[in-house]
Amino acid sequence: MQAKKGIAILGSTGSIGTQALEVLASYPKYFDLQVLTAGMNANLLIEQALKFQPNSVVITDESQYQKVKDALWSEDIHVYAGQEALCQVVESTEVHTVLTALVGYAGLKPTIHAIEAGKTIALANKETLVVAGELITQLAKEKGVNIYPVDSEHSAIFQCLVGEFHNPIEKIYLTASGGPFRGHTHEQLKSVTLEQALKHPNWSMGAKITIDSASLMNKGLEVIEAKWLFGLAPEQIDVIVHPQSIVHSLVQFEDGSMKAQMGLPDMKLPIQFALTYPARLKTDFPRFNFMDYPQLTFEQPDRNVFKNLDLAFQAMAAKGTAACALNAANEEAVAAFLDKRISFLEIAELNAQTMHALANTPNPIYEDYVRADAQARAYVQEILK
Ligand code: NDP
Ligand code: MG
Repeated sequence: MQAKKGIAILGSTGSIGTQALEVLASYPKYFDLQVLTAGMNANLLIEQALKFQPNSVVITDESQYQKVKDALWSEDIHVYAGQEALCQVVESTEVHTVLTALVGYAGLKPTIHAIEAGKTIALANKETLVVAGELITQLAKEKGVNIYPVDSEHSAIFQCLVGEFHNPIEKIYLTASGGPFRGHTHEQLKSVTLEQALKHPNWSMGAKITIDSASLMNKGLEVIEAKWLFGLAPEQIDVIVHPQSIVHSLVQFEDGSMKAQMGLPDMKLPIQFALTYPARLKTDFPRFNFMDYPQLTFEQPDRNVFKNLDLAFQAMAAKGTAACALNAANEEAVAAFLDKRISFLEIAELNAQTMHALANTPNPIYEDYVRADAQARAYVQEILK
């Protein structure tokens, strides 16, 4: 039998992290869980550690180190704390694949460490490629590291490309559900609430990506993610709204043929495929029934109302640190919206203001991204004072 694959899950207490653990629990013969990490949810991390018995756990919030350490004292599990520990645990020789399921810019540094250590990446943390796609893809190439997408749209494209890697892509279409405010006018968006924004029609996800989905920022981030994952030019990427979320995305080849990947919306499938590629393991996930979806519909996104989508295309065209600044502004703006400090429409306004105000550094190195991220956050905080 083949050796089990050692897995590290960064962000095991989140939406993707907990679903990844369900996948791992279904295939104990294939996976050997090595590392679990949490941000602040010590209780869930402890529960997961007791159940899955990893080699190491990290609680990023250092104030909770003692709590986790005490709870796991009788177990054969190493307990670490702090952001730096994330960078160390991914380097363990027992780890084969690192699933980056933490949210936001915090994913960048541990992903760099994992690639430098030659680990395969199962990438859920799209912000890593948005912020520093050039650096990450270059490093992965140098180290001969594969980055497998977890994001459902990118997994769909990847699945369409299996067996086609030598055929050039003419274009890809990323599908978007349109979120809870599809069809809303600018006027209607003025009064939407946090509670409404948190109600996604088709997917249950973490708070940040749920807000990003409502504002179409998520699709903007995914456009940039796709550029780096599949080596595309901006004009080769298009977005189409598909409210049923059954067609997960499409590839158009140079002969005009289009391939789509379909299925019920369930993140466990793309998570599993990223961990088992090229194999497909048998699942008992519910199957698609045509009669439940007699019509699959498609429409153009409303770019005049949902301004974030064009901001992402602009950042992608500008190159340099523009997308890093946009991402940082958006993380700050979404946090402020979740705190009920700003309105929904102010998210895109802050994003635009920040991206256009800050200087773009061409050909960035790592330190340029760190600086651009910090500057953009400070700029937003200054406006919010
Ligand atoms: P969640 O908010 O549900 O989970 C985030 C995870 O990251 C939690 O384990 C959290 O820990 C941890 N975390 C948060 N902040 C930090 C930090 N600063 N340092 C270290 N760990 C941290 O997010 P999701 O699971 O929804 O999303 C994770 C990533 O996957 C995002 O990049 C998202 O865009 C992407 N993604 C998610 C999808 C989904 O269906 N959810 C679909 C496609 C992509 P704790 O809770 O313990 O504080
Ligand atoms: Mg997605």
